[in-house]
Amino acid sequence: MTALCLGELALDGALRPVRGTMPRVRHAATRGVREVLAAEANAGEAAACGLESFGFATLRDVVEHLEGRVRIAPTGVPERAAAPRHPVDLAHVAGQETPKRALEIAAAGGHNLLFVGPPGTGKTMLARALESILPPLDDAEALAASAVHSVAGLTDPRHPVLTARPFRAPHHTASHLSLVGGGSPPRPGEVSLAHCGALFLDEVAEFSRGVLDTLREPLEEHAITISRAGGAATYPARFVLVAAMNPCPCGFWGDAARECTCLPEQIERYRGKISGPLLDRIDLRVHVPRVPFEHLRDEGRERSTVVRERVAEARERMRARLDATGRRVNADLTVAEVKRFCAVNPETESLLAEAVQARRLSARGYHRVLRVARTAADLARSDDVRNEDVAFALLLRSDP
Ligand SMILES: [Zn+2]
Repeated sequence: MTALCLGELALDGALRPVRGTMPRVRHAATRGVREVLAAEANAGEAAACGLESFGFATLRDVVEHLEGRVRIAPTGVPERAAAPRHPVDLAHVAGQETPKRALEIAAAGGHNLLFVGPPGTGKTMLARALESILPPLDDAEALAASAVHSVAGLTDPRHPVLTARPFRAPHHTASHLSLVGGGSPPRPGEVSLAHCGALFLDEVAEFSRGVLDTLREPLEEHAITISRAGGAATYPARFVLVAAMNPCPCGFWGDAARECTCLPEQIERYRGKISGPLLDRIDLRVHVPRVPFEHLRDEGRERSTVVRERVAEARERMRARLDATGRRVNADLTVAEVKRFCAVNPETESLLAEAVQARRLSARGYHRVLRVARTAADLARSDDVRNEDVAFALLLRSDP
């Protein structure tokens, strides 16, 4: 019987817990290892990975166990923690029907989303509500996301497996290191802690250009490689990016309530922060306007739990359709798959052709519109991508 032994041995013979138990155990399992001997605080993590796991306080206990003198009972699979309560519910947000639908599409199809609007329109609250409508984690995703937290040393020993998708919201003063990871020994950063969940960048134009540029690799590769002396560490980083920003430095460009005091070149520089490669990877760019006073008291707003059910059902449709492709969400469809799964009728095709002309949509932009339209159709339980889905996808792609 081959067993994996994990732990830090102290000078007095005590076994101390180590970071990264979960990914090590998962890797060992692929090599046929079925048993883990670990420090007590790590035994639950190992058991959660499906292996027989034993936790020990000291090296002496290990020896006595192996010699059969004092056998220790295997550690049970830890219970999942209760589902967390989300601080923001969609029902808290008045009006904003289009931004809310954009949020729903982002959650269902895994599309990146940018909210642009003046201060006080609730764009931060909207973005935070994404957490409350993300679909449930399946078992494989839960272990993959938890493994990153294990490497970062953020695991709760009583509940080592995450119950909800991570939602990470680093501040705009966050360093390169904390955002993408690194250090010695290397630790995963926010982009990896958001794996299988969402990364929220509020006031995205306030982040340093260098920090924003580093998002390109995870957005493209769904992983990040950290090079250092003596090798490289690669961490997974597949997240939905949700970002929010003002339309200009003073915040009131295009706002009826107040006049913008910025110079044109200031506005250009400000928006330039997220232009090009980063903006190119954001499928949904949505204006969040000021809500008219009379709409602030509207009744019958949908609660997040209702939206979340619709999102989960749309994910199921995607999963069934994409089963053989290795992809899970519409945002990840290849160009060939867009052709196959997002076919539209001639009338809709001409609507798209017009948009390509009028808005100088690139080939990349064209495919992004179709992926978003596919998700809108999935949320409407439609097998076909309809004219209205494409029209809505075009609406959700305004230029900031
Ligand atoms: Zn301004």
